[in-house]
Amino acid sequence: MAKVLPLTILPSPLLHQKSQPIAVAKITQPEIQQLISDMEQTMKANNSVGLAAVQVGKLLQLALIETQDGILVLINPQITSKSWLKNEGEEGCLSVPDKFGLVKRLTKIKVSAYNQQGKKISFTAKGFFARVIQHEVDHINGILFIDRTKKIYGGPPRDRQRD
Ligand code: ZN
Repeated sequence: MAKVLPLTILPSPLLHQKSQPIAVAKITQPEIQQLISDMEQTMKANNSVGLAAVQVGKLLQLALIETQDGILVLINPQITSKSWLKNEGEEGCLSVPDKFGLVKRLTKIKVSAYNQQGKKISFTAKGFFARVIQHEVDHINGILFIDRTKKIYGGPPRDRQRD
């Protein structure tokens, strides 16, 4: 049974720590599979487009991202190629409640990672999808969106803006 996990929020120092890679042989083990199911449940419960393991208190290089085709699981993700173009867009974060900010992100990236079955995957991401991945990879590196913007504003939570 998947369960909704408690969120790690500021001022938890965990959020500024780097996450550890997951050994490929462990990906298919029950402990990681359960964590993935629980994170999926937690994401849905919070109406979020992305969630990194550190946000549920685990310093592991694991992030879930919502896509049109369902939830994408990224384990030990690496950004292997970067566009020179950046654009600015609004971001929020479950770990930084009720704050939003404008953040510059690369418009196009290539990503390699392991999937939930422990298989190596690589793909190109653009636009909002690329933005969410960069936000989650930042979490894995102990960086929050508020560390990347000077324009932070409060406000009511907006649907589908938080990750
Ligand atoms: Zn976040």
